[in-house]
Amino acid sequence: MTSLNRLAPDQLPRPDFASIPRYSAGADAEVDLSDNTNQWGTPPAAAAVLREGLDVSRYPDMYGDSLKRTIAKMAGFGPECVVTGNGSDDVLDCVIRAFASPGDTIAHPDPTFVMLPVFARINGITPVPVPLAADFSMDADALLATNARIIYLCSPNNPTASPTSVDTIRRIIDNARGLVLLDEAYVEFTGLQGFLAEAPGLERVIVCRTLSKAYGLAGLRVGYAAASAEIVEIIEKSRGPFKLNRLAERAAVEALTTDTDWVAARVREAVASRDRLASELVAMSLPPLPSSANFLLVPTPRAFALARSLRESGIAVRPFRDLPGIGDAFRITAGPWPVMERALAALRAALRDAT
Ligand SMILES: *Cc1c(COP(=O)(O)O)cnc(C)c1O
Repeated sequence: MTSLNRLAPDQLPRPDFASIPRYSAGADAEVDLSDNTNQWGTPPAAAAVLREGLDVSRYPDMYGDSLKRTIAKMAGFGPECVVTGNGSDDVLDCVIRAFASPGDTIAHPDPTFVMLPVFARINGITPVPVPLAADFSMDADALLATNARIIYLCSPNNPTASPTSVDTIRRIIDNARGLVLLDEAYVEFTGLQGFLAEAPGLERVIVCRTLSKAYGLAGLRVGYAAASAEIVEIIEKSRGPFKLNRLAERAAVEALTTDTDWVAARVREAVASRDRLASELVAMSLPPLPSSANFLLVPTPRAFALARSLRESGIAVRPFRDLPGIGDAFRITAGPWPVMERALAALRAALRDAT
């Protein structure tokens, strides 16, 4: 920040940027269980695309048309109801910018996806945190009572892993004053359909998904959303062209078509591994919250110390400070069982050392 002192007053950044954090996660670990990516790797057909030596001397398709068509066919609506982006982060950012003016509010469950309030503030929008209900689901009445311009929902929610019932989500959709932005980053792990197919018919709803979690393409940055054609057209104005690169689009189409069996099998393994990890953690007096996603949130006052010890064993998990209604906690991604055993062994050693 000291370099800012050398800038003339007319060269200074927006004053509100002073309090907006630059995202920083831990450095690379040998085993990264910190961000809920696919621990089995890249799906095979998508990986084959990466080896093809695609000519990238030309620009990609402006709005990712082949990916839009693939998703539209999968969901049973027209490609004009799909918007793609450079990860779903990009899609969330574009939605907020397109539908809320500086000074407007966006209500979100608290805790939720850490980037959401950041994207709001970057766009001059005021985030309004709403505590989760006692069962860690989203509190429909409290969210509706904010009367916010946009209500952001995340089910299953990150970092709690808790789902919200279809009825509760429907009630929010039916009664919201403005738009409802539903983030389904982990829907593949729930065994439920989610709201994607319905989104275009629901008028005011935008359903956002990613290929970074179940689909194993976090490094390529591919996300998308479904909504009515009218809403999509507005989001694409704020998105602009060329957000999805040529390679990412090709690999994403392969992952969503050719790799479906591979992805479904890894999702089943992740869910089995998560449940087994949960029972082991209960046995160690570290009970996690109930999870419908590919990760667990483990409330413990020793979250940061345990994360540090795991780190020394080459394993990254994500510690959180003082989450509302939960306190300190760490989040751990479910992966192949041998990896989970390694994490459990490191946790046991850390707990032993501490007593
Ligand atoms: C990981 C995650 C995202 C971001 O996904 P990208 O497509 O990688 O940008 C969005 N929402 C939630 C809730 C997430 O956990």
